[in-house]
Amino acid sequence: MKDAPEIVVLPGDGIGPEIVSATREVLDALGDFNYDERLMGGCSIDADGVALTDEVLDACKAADAVLLGAVGGPKWDTTNPDEPRPEQGLLGLRKGMGLYANLRPVRPSPALMGASPLREDRISGTDLLVVRELTGGIYFGKSGREGDAAFDTCEYDASEIDRIARVAFDAARRRAEGSGRKPKVTSVDKANVMETSRLWREVVGRVVPDYPDVDFENMLADNAAMQLVSRPADFDVLVADNLFGDILSDEAAMLTGSLGMLPSASLGADGTPGLFEPVHGSAPDIAGNGIANPLATFLSAAMMLRHGLGMPDEAARIEEAVDKALEDGLRTPDLAGGPAAPPPMVDVPPEVEVGTAEMTAAVIEALN
Ligand code: NAD
Repeated sequence: MKDAPEIVVLPGDGIGPEIVSATREVLDALGDFNYDERLMGGCSIDADGVALTDEVLDACKAADAVLLGAVGGPKWDTTNPDEPRPEQGLLGLRKGMGLYANLRPVRPSPALMGASPLREDRISGTDLLVVRELTGGIYFGKSGREGDAAFDTCEYDASEIDRIARVAFDAARRRAEGSGRKPKVTSVDKANVMETSRLWREVVGRVVPDYPDVDFENMLADNAAMQLVSRPADFDVLVADNLFGDILSDEAAMLTGSLGMLPSASLGADGTPGLFEPVHGSAPDIAGNGIANPLATFLSAAMMLRHGLGMPDEAARIEEAVDKALEDGLRTPDLAGGPAAPPPMVDVPPEVEVGTAEMTAAVIEALN
């Protein structure tokens, strides 16, 4: 029998420990996992003086996957550049583990369609994934300022583009597994004006023949921004450089209309454990009240099962259980009420406001 996967768990700060412990309950209802819980972020600064110790980084590198809650809070806010900051732990992890691909799926739950700023008929059927290059491009190039002039440089080499393209194609294949539909990748660039984009298009084009089972298209970034809101359901996997990926993943995220629902994964080279975390922060304003929405972390755990541990069936079970709890009308306060929305196209029971524990219990019940 296969050994239970080793998961390093980094609950972090604020609501982090609440949503991560709820997620462990959900994982335990699915199968056997070994957890190694460690400090990272503000809690690590309190204990060890730094946001990420070498020991914790080594444990993360040696694990099968890393599950993170969120870090930060007013206690550690400082403008003194010499003081440690919780976010340094996140950057240290991404850099130290070589996580160059950020994956953000966008799949509005049918019961939450009314929460999207877009009309329901526009977003209905949307199920897409943005794959963003995370460690290169204009955010890491040479930049400078002289008087009233400033510059940022965007640089990519072929190997950086090749590896992110392969992450996108592999993810497209995994997402389509067992569904009977043909996977599709849309590569986003500005090849009409930028030299790095022309290299991007050329290198991605060289990867395409290795995936004859995947449909492929190139799209200019400005057009992609427009198409994402006008026909989001037509996308499957979008792959983009660091800058375009940053902007498009936030635009795509708003299709769901709710921060508490968005998971993410950061992946590196084959054999490197991935890092899985909700998109939201540590919500210090509601920490300790038992009302945090744990669903983004449950969905991050689903990504961990699918993209990090090769357990796609279990991943799908979590996603379906989350949908079921929402369809039954359960809402944590951040999802409850909200702006007046048009009546949903699907019949949903009246909303019931619940806390973290009730939502967790409902998801576990739906799993079974
Ligand atoms: P935030 O995402 O923590 O909170 C924004 C708002 O959304 C708050 O009102 C909060 O209560 C609410 N919210 C967020 N997640 C929620 C959830 N799961 N359930 C219910 N409500 C939720 O962003 P912020 O307030 O800008 O930042 C707070 C702290 O988190 C800061 O220290 C920031 O640096 C940190 N942060 C960390 C990460 C991370 O760990 N990846 C990401 C973003 C912000």
